Amino acid sequence: MTAAIRPVLAEGPATAPLATLEPFDIAHPTHIALVESETAFWGLVRKEQLADALAGGELLESLRAKAEIFGREMDLLRFGLKPSAVYFNPTERCNLNCSYCYIPEAMRSGGAQMDRATVLAALDRLHSYFRGHMPAERLPQVIFHGAEPLLAREAIFAGIEAYGDRFRFGVQTNATLLDEAAIAFLTDRGVGIGLSLDGPIAAVADRTRRRWNGDGVFDQVVRAIDRLKGYPGFNVICTMTSENLPHLTAMVDFLHEHQVPACMLNVTRCTLAGARNVRGSDDDVAQAYLAALERAHALYRTSGRKLVVANFANILIAILAPTARRLMCDISPCGGGRSFFALAPDGSLFPCSEFIGLPAFAGGNLFRQPIEEILDSPPFRLVSGRRIEQVEGCNTCPIRHFCGSPCPAEAYEMNGGMERKGAFCRFYEEQVRYALRLIADGRHEDFLWEGWDEGTETLCSIGAA
Ligand code: SF4
Ligand code: SF4
Repeated sequence: MTAAIRPVLAEGPATAPLATLEPFDIAHPTHIALVESETAFWGLVRKEQLADALAGGELLESLRAKAEIFGREMDLLRFGLKPSAVYFNPTERCNLNCSYCYIPEAMRSGGAQMDRATVLAALDRLHSYFRGHMPAERLPQVIFHGAEPLLAREAIFAGIEAYGDRFRFGVQTNATLLDEAAIAFLTDRGVGIGLSLDGPIAAVADRTRRRWNGDGVFDQVVRAIDRLKGYPGFNVICTMTSENLPHLTAMVDFLHEHQVPACMLNVTRCTLAGARNVRGSDDDVAQAYLAALERAHALYRTSGRKLVVANFANILIAILAPTARRLMCDISPCGGGRSFFALAPDGSLFPCSEFIGLPAFAGGNLFRQPIEEILDSPPFRLVSGRRIEQVEGCNTCPIRHFCGSPCPAEAYEMNGGMERKGAFCRFYEEQVRYALRLIADGRHEDFLWEGWDEGTETLCSIGAA
């Protein structure tokens, strides 16, 4: 993948007037950011040189010289992608009743589930679709997702067995059904495994993730994590809620100690009302999250082993090399309905799993319509057409292409429309500030995967120090 490595530090003298670079305070002792928000071009300058840099100099010249390339690159990322992945929900059912789940209770307690033949038929149709526009050497991704996909274990394992050479598979699971046989099957085939765990001890983790009878599942999840030790293709998702924020740093310790290679510390998606009850405030979430990132860094420095916080690494990459980002919540339009879509057990397609509890966002049915037609349906266009330029308050935000104003499902359900912000604006702002501070201090590489920039191309890196 080609991408621009954006400027790092500039000390430039003044030569020409500048209208487009905008100062963005990153709460750093010596540096401030300058951003050209349309193209996501940025630089860091010493505070005492801000006036000079705004008036002209090396940074401005670079912007002028490369603006067209950066603009094209950003347009390609925002409007030129075609789907390369599907979140495949083989069942609406779940054996847990987590407090923030985006799938309505009635669906999770007794909803539809695909059988083996339906999973295979769906994979067949998906394969034909992806082959139509993806190069043969690039495999599309299928992530079995939930509700709890391992409730349909026999069907999805048959799919992985039959289509292992045509898709890259992943499973996102609550880990309660991840026994030794399942782990052996999945790891033998290189399937990516994502587990969910919300705390470092049962008393915290079980507050939000419980069975229908109220029993916690902490011990089972930890057993699965320990069984996966040494497997590079697994990660743990921790949803940050008001219930676990004070324990987030201890959670990082726990994950590092259990040799988890990567995790995600995700905000609570507030699409459904239940999730809003456990949502932390922006300031509390930001404080706990940044402390957790610092802890992950300290552990890396003392042990030499990284616990990559993947959603934060993605923000850093969005700043350093926008088109190399791997997750698609922090760009607008987001990835929903354009770089991937979600399949429900009855064959309905939704722009993203986040919309699966909202029937109005079903764009059509995989078994009855061409996927291209569904991607162009009004519900899909509502999501894939949500441009940050039309979102109140985000349209003038200097960091809008490092944030993306997630999430359209939240904006629509919680705040009343696609032209509204989602739930965590101030948190996203703090996250970008912190990322830029790390870059100013030269610490950012410590937070990234090894080899994250393989295949990227440096288009602009002036005055790096
Ligand atoms: S922002 Fe929301 S709808 Fe878009 S990809 Fe992320 S979770 Fe899905
Ligand atoms: S949500 Fe907030 S930080 Fe993100 S683009 Fe909008 S105004 Fe900026």
